[in-house]
Amino acid sequence: AKERGRNTWHVYSQELHDELADRLDLSKKLRYAIEQNKLAVFYQPQVDMTTRKIIGLEALVRWIEDDGTIIGPDRFIPIAEDSGLILPISDFVLQTACRQLARWRDMGLNDIRVSVNLSGRQFQVPDLTDQILYAVRSAGIPTAFLELELTEQVLIENSKSHTQFMQDMRDNGITLAIDDFGVGYSSLSYLKHFPINALKIDRSFVKDLPDDKDDATITQTIVSLARNLDIGIVAEGVENQAQADFLIERGCTIGQGYFYSRPVPADEATALLTAPNSV
Ligand code: C2E
Ligand code: CA
Ligand code: CA
Ligand code: CA
Repeated sequence: AKERGRNTWHVYSQELHDELADRLDLSKKLRYAIEQNKLAVFYQPQVDMTTRKIIGLEALVRWIEDDGTIIGPDRFIPIAEDSGLILPISDFVLQTACRQLARWRDMGLNDIRVSVNLSGRQFQVPDLTDQILYAVRSAGIPTAFLELELTEQVLIENSKSHTQFMQDMRDNGITLAIDDFGVGYSSLSYLKHFPINALKIDRSFVKDLPDDKDDATITQTIVSLARNLDIGIVAEGVENQAQADFLIERGCTIGQGYFYSRPVPADEATALLTAPNSV
């Protein structure tokens, strides 16, 4: 048994070593990709499901390799968070999204907003507020058209620094949405204390609608919670008409998901925004 334990450890240790080496390799490549401008921002529409009009777009980062291969954020955001590279990445996404919104506004698209994800690591930056305001002002867009998405986990882990930050955002007219709502930590008290503009129902609850009874109940509960608190609600991961119908019927009219559009490059997003029938 001892021998076997040792072998197990040996194998495990080798795997761990390989994994660490992979991560190190990836973080080096990522650093280089940032320097070489290989990151891009894609946009996924948030749609009024009753009219199919686009009311906003979420900015989602992508890593484009030289051969055109697209690496999704789930593969590199965790590494970026560990290595600190998330800070330049976040700044890039924020500035790119603000400038893109300015271009859309120049085209007369004056009532759409853009949403940008915030990472917990950004709360460790003392001038986060200034960084955000700088991006908004240098793009020349009104603050009210930028929305920041943060998870409950980020809020709870940074309970000290987020209070001032949230107040700063409110004072400047920037809106906040709670991402992945309903998964993990659920401390609802912040809904009362902070200027939350919207809850985004996590995709995991939407996936098996309308058939899964538990998911139907959870979704319905989140929708009525939000409505009673006068907070907006967005359903993530809407993939079909049946899900959309269920959500609309329960009072959630804004949806984001493959049923309407995948995240697309800026020029394709522009085409969607200017098409006569939207998505
Ligand atoms: P998220 O913020 O929850 O973003 C929504 C994710 O769901 C996106 O994945 C989107 O492509 C995917 N999605 C949207 N609709 C559907 C659908 O109908 N079906 C399915 N199966 N998936 C759908 P993506 O772009 O791969 O991003 C994954 C996560 O990476 C994001 O989850 C977010 O947590 C993080 N992320 C992306 N961009 C950024 C960024 O610029 N900064 C930070 N800090 N995190 C980012
Ligand atoms: Ca998000
Ligand atoms: Ca989400
Ligand atoms: Ca998610």
